[in-house]
Amino acid sequence: MATTTIGHWIDGKVHEPTPGSDGGDIRHGDVFNPATGEVQAKVAFATPAVVDQAVESAARAAQTWRSVSLARRTKILFAFRQLVEKHQHELARLLTLEHGKVTPDALGEVNRGLEVIEFACGIADLAKGEYSENVSTEVDSYSIRQPLGVVAGITPFNFPAMVPMWMFPIAIACGNTFVLKPSERDPSCANFCAQLLTDAGLPPGVFNVVHGDKVAVDRLLEHPKVAAISFVGSTPIARYIYETGTRHGKRVQALGGAKNHMIVLPDADMELAADAAVSAGYGSAGERCMAISVLVAVGNAADKLLPLIRERIAKLKVGDGLEAGAEMGPLITKTHRDKVAGYVDRGVAEGAELLVDGRTLVVVGRPSGFFLGPTLFDHVKPEMTIYQDEIFGPVLSVARAATYDEAIALVNNNPYANGVALFTNDGGAARKFQHEVEVGMVGINVPIPVPMAYYSFGGWKASLFGDHHIYGRDGVHFYTRTKAITSRWPDPRHRGVDLGFPQNR
Ligand code: NAD
Repeated sequence: MATTTIGHWIDGKVHEPTPGSDGGDIRHGDVFNPATGEVQAKVAFATPAVVDQAVESAARAAQTWRSVSLARRTKILFAFRQLVEKHQHELARLLTLEHGKVTPDALGEVNRGLEVIEFACGIADLAKGEYSENVSTEVDSYSIRQPLGVVAGITPFNFPAMVPMWMFPIAIACGNTFVLKPSERDPSCANFCAQLLTDAGLPPGVFNVVHGDKVAVDRLLEHPKVAAISFVGSTPIARYIYETGTRHGKRVQALGGAKNHMIVLPDADMELAADAAVSAGYGSAGERCMAISVLVAVGNAADKLLPLIRERIAKLKVGDGLEAGAEMGPLITKTHRDKVAGYVDRGVAEGAELLVDGRTLVVVGRPSGFFLGPTLFDHVKPEMTIYQDEIFGPVLSVARAATYDEAIALVNNNPYANGVALFTNDGGAARKFQHEVEVGMVGINVPIPVPMAYYSFGGWKASLFGDHHIYGRDGVHFYTRTKAITSRWPDPRHRGVDLGFPQNR
């Protein structure tokens, strides 16, 4: 059976790789269907020469796109928004086929992305400058926000539609042009979006896609015509992107990995907390940067909560994400599935109590899929590997804390600080939490507190390198630079040479 090759998208069309002009051998990656374990496509890996073609196209387009009116940019984004909504089921299907997440989850992802496109449609109001009349006599000062030029996005496998949508709608709305390097594991959503943007009327070169690995990323990081980099992925790579990009003089925001805790106080609604722990621990097979990885049960909370969690796990339906009724799909690759299973082995070896073992799961009709069942550990301690590492799989660890202060200290001592949640019915305890916890996104009786598009998304500490969160007003600030103008329309009284430092009058 012939395998399709997913190509780049440069200058408004699919880029057909040619060994000569593209600077060397053509490399490809395998794109799996994680539910069946089969290779369903190949994806082209960009050489530095291909990246250069994309950046040149974006640089040419930037010269005119920055002058296109706000009204026109908004119209195109609005048309894009309509197309994404219309084609959401196709986008979700592509996503499930390459990522593995179940259909309702894939649709949820597309819809969270849509919210950012909707936010970007308000660019006319968001990118307004400021104006002060008569800062000195008959002198006015004002500021305008201008685009940076060519900006690049490098994105992870776990949200192939939503995470790019956190970036490019706002970047483009602000007048920049964009080069996206999506994850090589699930590349098709990026090309689908490129086609929809073209259909919406976006001029060639404003949005480009280059597929590939470190080779493509490194060229973007050093390319003199790339002004800024938005990155989302694991912490070691985020740190590398931040250090390398800033060394090359670029503005960089690099969002990293996570180890999200959910504290449950003894007064919490335990049924609600059990629903939340299971949903946030095993949704998307734990492959979410906002997944709950550690449940910190305070006092006697664990004794009430664990039977409720186990009851819910027993009813979860794991299967092919396209199957009706499936609640949890496979992991992204066999290598990753085996790595996560290895963490389960390690947890047992290091003395955690394994209450539910997902390693033995068999999915009927999908013997070669990359499945691992929901796994639950109790009595997990901070020195254990399963506590320290980001597992990124369906493994929920329960740690026990004697007091609320001990639970908060556990969270604050963790190097990651992406999301955190508290379950309680005590308003005072909730207020103490939001004040004291050192984490970027906080949920109170909400397990996955992903901010709306008009707030910004981002963690603290090892979960974000840079000083801007992504999307929301932070996104507008990241993708624009301020120019402050001081102006006087001279009248005859102002004529004459004066070498003194200008003073405000
Ligand atoms: P990853 O870091 O392996 O890859 C992310 C991107 O970097 C991909 O496009 C990949 O091709 C590229 N890349 C990988 N290795 C590279 C290297 N050595 N040099 C240059 N580029 C490289 O992440 P992933 O496995 O695709 O995604 C999962 C990770 O992303 C998890 O750690 C998760 O927590 C994190 N994540 C974070 C957020 C957030 O908002 N903080 C959101 C989603 C995912």
